[in-house]
Amino acid sequence: MFVLLNHLQRLRRATPPSPVRARGSLAVRHVDAGSCNGCEHELAAATNPFYDLQQYGLNVVASPRHADVLLVTGAITTRMAGPLRTAYEAMPEPRLVAALGDCALGCNLLGDQAELAGPLEAILPVDLRIPGCPPTPKAIAQALTAALHRLATD
Ligand code: SF4
Repeated sequence: MFVLLNHLQRLRRATPPSPVRARGSLAVRHVDAGSCNGCEHELAAATNPFYDLQQYGLNVVASPRHADVLLVTGAITTRMAGPLRTAYEAMPEPRLVAALGDCALGCNLLGDQAELAGPLEAILPVDLRIPGCPPTPKAIAQALTAALHRLATD
């Protein structure tokens, strides 16, 4: 069994990510880079049956290799700066980076701490800004559907 899993893992690594994105859909990889979990609660609410992000073709995926958007929450800790860059490098083009919440946008809610690497913008190019502490599910849904439109027209 272990050998089979290893073989499958090697096969997956050898297969390049498809350059063709399903039309009208957006795969989102979420990374918590030091959040209080408030933003995650609102993101989870955006996928509930009321806001139902999936109806617009927006899906949260487990791997950056399958993602169109890297969605980052939280004040960016120094320990998360490297993993964020790694996740970004793994994403196929075209790719977008979204900063979700005031912490990721660098509003300095936690003050100047040595453990913080600064706003997301200091680590990666940010394409989408979703302000709020935390942003509402509606604001998250609107920003992500705007990203879907942007990728579709690129
Ligand atoms: S923006 Fe507000 S809700 Fe979101 S992680 Fe920061 S403190 Fe928490």
